[in-house]
Amino acid sequence: MSASQTSAPSSPRPAGPDGAASPRRLLEKLSPVSGARLGDFPVADEAEVRAAVARARAAFPDWRDTPLAGRIEVLGRVKQVLAEQGEHYARKISEDTGKPTFEATMMEIGAVPLLLDYMLRRAPVLLRRQKVSTPIVLPGKSGFIEHFPRGVIGIISPWNFPFQLAVVPVLSALIGGNTVVLKQSEITPIVAGVVEDLFRRIGLPAGVVEIVHGDGSTGAALTRAEVDMLFFTGSVATGRKVMAAAAQRPIPVELELGGKDAMIVCADANLERAAEAAVWGGLVNCGQACVSVERIFVVDAIHDRFVEKVREKVSRVTVGGPDEQADMGPLTSSAQLGIVERHVNAAVAAGAKVVFGGEKLQRPGQFFAPTLLTGVTPEMEIFREETFGPVLPVIRVRDEDEAVRLANASEFGLAGSVWTQDIDKGLRLASRMECGQVSVNDVIQSVGHPALPFGGVRSSGIGRYHGDAGILAFMNTRGIMVDRGFLNSEPLWFPYAGKVSHGFELLKGLTTRSLGSLVKGFLGLAKKRARPK
Ligand code: NAD
Repeated sequence: MSASQTSAPSSPRPAGPDGAASPRRLLEKLSPVSGARLGDFPVADEAEVRAAVARARAAFPDWRDTPLAGRIEVLGRVKQVLAEQGEHYARKISEDTGKPTFEATMMEIGAVPLLLDYMLRRAPVLLRRQKVSTPIVLPGKSGFIEHFPRGVIGIISPWNFPFQLAVVPVLSALIGGNTVVLKQSEITPIVAGVVEDLFRRIGLPAGVVEIVHGDGSTGAALTRAEVDMLFFTGSVATGRKVMAAAAQRPIPVELELGGKDAMIVCADANLERAAEAAVWGGLVNCGQACVSVERIFVVDAIHDRFVEKVREKVSRVTVGGPDEQADMGPLTSSAQLGIVERHVNAAVAAGAKVVFGGEKLQRPGQFFAPTLLTGVTPEMEIFREETFGPVLPVIRVRDEDEAVRLANASEFGLAGSVWTQDIDKGLRLASRMECGQVSVNDVIQSVGHPALPFGGVRSSGIGRYHGDAGILAFMNTRGIMVDRGFLNSEPLWFPYAGKVSHGFELLKGLTTRSLGSLVKGFLGLAKKRARPK
């Protein structure tokens, strides 16, 4: 629990049917900008979580059976609500997280209509029954594939992009006919209320989206409840627990976890653009982005020139709260501030050089200076572990091959970027990076490309969403084979007597792709098909 989320005395909970009021645990929310108290927020217990899951379960059959066009109509209303409430929501997101209101507008709220439009357009194509080709050894048959919803989806979301990372998975689950129980981060309870407001306003039938508020205990209760799938975004440590809980039932689980994203700057890069990108990519959302710039590999030939450009640009980044129109806000979580300080101090002790910043700012709130480090090496914690803060660690490399090798020498594999004016080379390097998304001459914005799948490898997670994958992630798949049913029996069915040699002939046809053997074997079997009367 961070300083922005400390325990407060319990408050009375509404009386139950027996008239007894049980105490409800509350969490106190402090402003990451000023440290001021912003309110107390309730924690749902196991019974409340189970009740929410039961309501989502009861709502499932009707929502599943609502024609897709009807679901599309309801979910499309999200855009209308965001058009009306977007500015208000963005200010609430900034109040809760401390992030600049421009970032809240573009990267939290703006991402939703972009990704939603894609879903609304693709769902009718992806979710209709599709005919597949049938081999000649299955004459008279047709094959179809169709998708059907998994049921009640438990979605658990983090605090760094608390709006987008809750709303997009929920919409992705709903479009295919699932119902959802959502548990958002306790570190951003104001945004949790905003998300609840959004789903209330679009007029979903009761129980289709149930929102439970609370901390890790509420999330853990959801992982133990009778849900049909868990979709988790957050840290590796919690992801392990979620997966272990899912294994007990067992149910499918998607994990969207941390990263240590590499940026590879080649000698032929547009250095001006690459330096701008390093600064924005590493400092956007105060560095608290899963897809980010966490390690910058710069080839020796241009290292010093590049570092000087980055230093000059970092020095111009303004820091402050949302009201100050600054480029960069505070860290949202005070626990994260401690991790950033530890990584920077340990790197410096091990020989890294602070070119700019390097310390907490002397002002109220959770501010850390935009920081540029050079001389970072693979032995350092800051090279290996997710920092999730406003730090740009530069690693000098001999050439691009060394950069790719070191970029891949990581527990994580979420995203990365390659910087070169030779696009073919950029694509070749991108294909060698062991991660789920790579940009050539761009950074982070690939997350907003609605057709691209998103997700990690290794400890960065399991599964993909966004794009077509985002709709199908929440669906079960069913194969259907149809025979018109004219024949009374089939070659494969009983009796077997007299069929072995024909079977061998058919096998020869299957293995050698000999049409003659296939036909001969098949006709032989067909003759033996029916039991003698
Ligand atoms: P976290 O794991 O601490 O918490 C995430 C959510 O899990 C919260 O809602 C929390 O209350 C809940 N939770 C905590 N304990 C739980 C338990 N035992 N069972 C179930 N739920 C539990 O993560 P965080 O600090 O909120 O988020 C930061 C992390 O998320 C970073 O590592 C970041 O890289 C990662 N992240 C990944 C992506 C992605 O898409 N890959 C996106 C954003 C953030």
